[in-house]
Amino acid sequence: MNNLILVLNCGSSSIKFAILNPKTEKKYLSGVVECLFLPETSITWKCLGIQYKKSIGSKIDHKTALIFIIDEVLFKQKDILKNLIGIGHRVVHGGIKIKKSMLINEDVIKKIKDAISFAPLHNPANLIGIKIFREKYFNLSKKNVAVFDTSFYHNMPEISFLYAIPYNFYKKYGIRRYGAHGISHKYVAKKASIILNKTFSSLNIITCHLGNGASVSAICNGICVDTSMGLTPLEGLVMGTRSGDIDPSIVFFMNKKLNMSLDEIEIILTKKSGLLGLSEISSDFRYFEKNYNIKKNAKRSVDVFCHRLSKYISAYTTLMENRLDGIVFTGGIGENVPLIRKLTLSRLSLLGFKIDNKLNSSMIMGKSGLISKNLSWPVFVIATNEELAIAKETMNIINKK
Ligand code: ADP
Repeated sequence: MNNLILVLNCGSSSIKFAILNPKTEKKYLSGVVECLFLPETSITWKCLGIQYKKSIGSKIDHKTALIFIIDEVLFKQKDILKNLIGIGHRVVHGGIKIKKSMLINEDVIKKIKDAISFAPLHNPANLIGIKIFREKYFNLSKKNVAVFDTSFYHNMPEISFLYAIPYNFYKKYGIRRYGAHGISHKYVAKKASIILNKTFSSLNIITCHLGNGASVSAICNGICVDTSMGLTPLEGLVMGTRSGDIDPSIVFFMNKKLNMSLDEIEIILTKKSGLLGLSEISSDFRYFEKNYNIKKNAKRSVDVFCHRLSKYISAYTTLMENRLDGIVFTGGIGENVPLIRKLTLSRLSLLGFKIDNKLNSSMIMGKSGLISKNLSWPVFVIATNEELAIAKETMNIINKK
């Protein structure tokens, strides 16, 4: 039990944490605080094989939850803590200036603050986690590393990241496409390169991260050349509660004709749209899987989801320089819902994708493997592991110092 890394993922309404050894990949402790700011905030954690669950209170904020995690969970595991050599923080948006993972100092904190307008729900939460962990673990205060979801997209070509609005908005205000979920896309692409026995720098692959948030990335010669998320994680695919792509005129219509304020429209597009908006009932894919053949609202939601996803995949095949090594499905939906993979790939048969139904049905609950037939471009399900990716990156940065 040595050389352990603590990974902290401070989200907008949840906080995930884990302690693991990035080399052996063994996890010693992991947990999650859920329902921040809601009537019942709870924590569950697992340590050395034992599971715990507790209520933390009502409408608990990030700071209170983090102090609970530190005092009631982490500080009680002295044997594990004494082997900690660094802390890796997931940071959603690095803004214009940050291109790679960094040891956290005052300058990095300022740059994360500068990017708040691009990730207003996430970056402030990430900053609270950074502040509290640097203060509470003073002996490791110089070994906190920020790992950014946007880093993977910094080599995207201008033709992919520019919006066709006056160029000055990019030059002066940094309005461009930044992407998101980069940690996961890179992790599963690397796994695919190992399965395919190819170097990462020669890999041409399309990765689909389908969870509550969802995005697709086109990776050519190991570099991300396009991705579906934009300035913020609102653009692109249909998501749990986010609309993904819409005609911007919908915003003008809601504002001018329906007299809705910009704040109200933002809530509609980020919290009440996507699968929840289309179905008028749920954003949980278990509902859609169960009811696809029974209920109209489930069928229309899933069909819009797959239609949009297949459009992105087919568009991204044009960026592959004449060879596609495969497609990867990952994330809670990508890893667990054979129906989505089947419906999406059946729309892509013209491009040469053929799914093996038996393999597809068997690939659930964290299993990884091939789900396509012999004569198809390869299609894989690969379980993502963002915690492990952050821990490995943190270790690399600490070792470089
Ligand atoms: P995020 O990390 O973005 O919050 P996840 O990657 O955990 O999201 O994915 C959440 C989504 O995956 C939800 O829509 C959930 O219903 C779906 N999901 C997770 N497990 C299953 C399962 N076993 N069967 C069907 N859907 C699942």
